[in-house]
Amino acid sequence: MPVQKVVFTKEIVDSILSYSKMNHPREGILLLRGRSRKGVVEVQSIVVPPGAVHGEGFSGFSWWMLPIDLSYVGVAHSHPSGYAVPSHEDLLHVTGRVMVIAGFPYTDEGCIRVYDVNGKKVSFEVRS
Ligand SMILES: [Zn+2]
Repeated sequence: MPVQKVVFTKEIVDSILSYSKMNHPREGILLLRGRSRKGVVEVQSIVVPPGAVHGEGFSGFSWWMLPIDLSYVGVAHSHPSGYAVPSHEDLLHVTGRVMVIAGFPYTDEGCIRVYDVNGKKVSFEVRS
């Protein structure tokens, strides 16, 4: 079933934004854990990936080191350029159900975009 909606908690959104700020001007990558049911992906926690090579984007990222399990729903990463649209490179590396991109200046949820595995934009909701 295609992903129709993604649900975040306010805390997760804040964590993605502050992690992106912390890594700026390099690109930050986070793993998303949660659950997926009836086309709705609920992100419940984030994990800093082990061995992530910052600053080289997905090409420098060691996917084989990821502890991927059933609670893994996707990846969030930042675009220091501010343009929160998946690059060609991003689309070659989509894993899980969704891809979350945070675009500079990472001020609030308006800087976040969510895409499915085909690069199609998915709407999201933030619950407090
Ligand atoms: Zn990217």
